[in-house]
Amino acid sequence: MPMKWWGWGEEGETFPLPDPEGFWAYVRQRLGETGGSPRIDSLETVDVRPSRLEGRDVEALRRAAGEGALTTDPAARAVYSFGKGYCDVVRLRRGEVPNPTDVVVWPETEEQVAAILDLAAERGIAVIPFGGGTSVVGGLEPVPGRPCITLHLGRLSRILAVDPIAGTVTAESGILGPALEQQLNARGFTLGHFPQSFQYSSLGGWIATRSAGQKSTLYGKIEKRLHSLRLVYPGGDLSTPEVPAAAAGPDLNQAVAGSEGVLGVITHATMRLAPLPEHRDFRGYLFQSFHEGIEACRQFLRCELRPAVLRLSDEPETGTTIAMRAPPSGEAASEPVRAALLILGFEGIEREVGWGWEEAEAVLGRYGGQSLGRGPGEAWDRSRYDAPYLRDLLLDHGIMADTLETATTWGHYLDLYRAVRDAMAAALGERGQVMAHLSHSYSDGGSIYYTFLAPQERGNELGQWQRVKSAATQAIVEHGGALSHHHGIGSDHRPWMAAYLGAGGVRALAALKQAFDPHGIMNPGKLLVTPEEAKFD
Ligand SMILES: Cc1cc2nc3c(=O)[nH]c(=O)nc-3n(C[C@H](O)[C@H](O)[C@H](O)COP(=O)(O)OP(=O)(O)OC[C@H]3O[C@@H](n4cnc5c(N)ncnc54)[C@H](O)[C@@H]3O)c2cc1C
Repeated sequence: MPMKWWGWGEEGETFPLPDPEGFWAYVRQRLGETGGSPRIDSLETVDVRPSRLEGRDVEALRRAAGEGALTTDPAARAVYSFGKGYCDVVRLRRGEVPNPTDVVVWPETEEQVAAILDLAAERGIAVIPFGGGTSVVGGLEPVPGRPCITLHLGRLSRILAVDPIAGTVTAESGILGPALEQQLNARGFTLGHFPQSFQYSSLGGWIATRSAGQKSTLYGKIEKRLHSLRLVYPGGDLSTPEVPAAAAGPDLNQAVAGSEGVLGVITHATMRLAPLPEHRDFRGYLFQSFHEGIEACRQFLRCELRPAVLRLSDEPETGTTIAMRAPPSGEAASEPVRAALLILGFEGIEREVGWGWEEAEAVLGRYGGQSLGRGPGEAWDRSRYDAPYLRDLLLDHGIMADTLETATTWGHYLDLYRAVRDAMAAALGERGQVMAHLSHSYSDGGSIYYTFLAPQERGNELGQWQRVKSAATQAIVEHGGALSHHHGIGSDHRPWMAAYLGAGGVRALAALKQAFDPHGIMNPGKLLVTPEEAKFD
């Protein structure tokens, strides 16, 4: 079943609120009264500019992509011109499609991908690789003023080989999370990559954005699991060597990982697998403050034992988590929660899980961590893909809800956390809420993932979002955080790339682009700033 065009999941699926009345009363207590947010009934009625491709280009593409693998239908072009970020969803719900793609094609073979890219290069048409379509950084929208092909990878979704001796899988890039994981599990393996968008995002999209799964503290971000890949670019292709490690110059796997479709199309990749865990044990802990919890996590990560999940919510997020399950009423509803919830989980062979808990309990206890047992851990595990459905409900109630993320080293962690939180709170205004958690950890630092909410400013929904996003991103760059830890750059973060990378970094990426895509047809307007665009003081 395809995803609903106006939100997350399939038509009819929604967020399971145990006490809807209590929850909305809690939301009103925090945000005040909010209006509704009108949504058009169908995309069929939307005014989508006609395809700008000439008939001969459409015919040539039809020959290249194969019969039945192309559409210029306006509603389809509207849906495939967006990802699933807040601004994408808001515009689609209002029927605003300012930059529709001109054609969507579904190639089934690598040869067809190459033929489409060659044709596009010859005719100067832009190409946007489209995996699962879950980008939240404006990674999929065409740029104005240029005809565009959206190259959907959904039919390139086969597992090509599993090597049980090396413990690797080679799969085509359009395969989605569940199909890949189910086939691996049947052979006793896991990729260990579970982003919240797991059900709808693709292997190629994960690699192209350097995605992080909910268990990345154990399994690593996707680039850590990348063994080798194949990139088809206009006029050529690149296959990286199938070796476990090499000293043969800079690592081209890592140059392509995170390239967001601007260099070419990743058609397949070989990934490192882990054995399917025998044993899993997730529990909850409570700390008196986020600060104390962070210190406990940092100390724990000094040992070499890695939990699968280490997710510490700050005080406002802890309050919201509790309210979603059992909304407080009366005076308690307006009391701020003064505690930080940690979900800690180990998985693997039973002995390792046991060692993990021994070490964790000793360290967490030293920093005031109070065990809540398995209840909160198991509840988190059951509901870990649910939050995106809540955004749809909040939007229906006229509430802006979005997330953004960064990462830094432990020594700077709390300073960055506060600086970005405060910048967002100021931009949101009095009726806004900001909350955050740590969810991807390393021995030297961790990510910070913010959620922000406010009543929508009617008529200025995109301007309101941009104000908060800009304030947060500026604070991240000024305080030395990662411009993105796992969502990528897309068009949303692109204006900060020069400040983040510096002149040398901008030139290096521009040279890479020139090498693979000299005609500049691949996903224009994403990730890269040209040296000419970049302004340095
Ligand atoms: C509700 C929700 C939850 C999310 N949770 C997470 C999370 O937990 N962790 C996380 O990391 N991200 C998360 N994301 C962001 C998003 O899911 C990731 O960026 C994901 O990796 C995108 O994969 P995709 O297949 O949907 O790619 P798309 O959205 O289709 O594409 C993303 C970018 O990659 C390029 N691209 C896609 N496929 C290819 C290919 N084969 N070759 C070259 N370029 C390609 C596209 O052109 C685009 O620039 C979330 C998004 C949503 C909406």
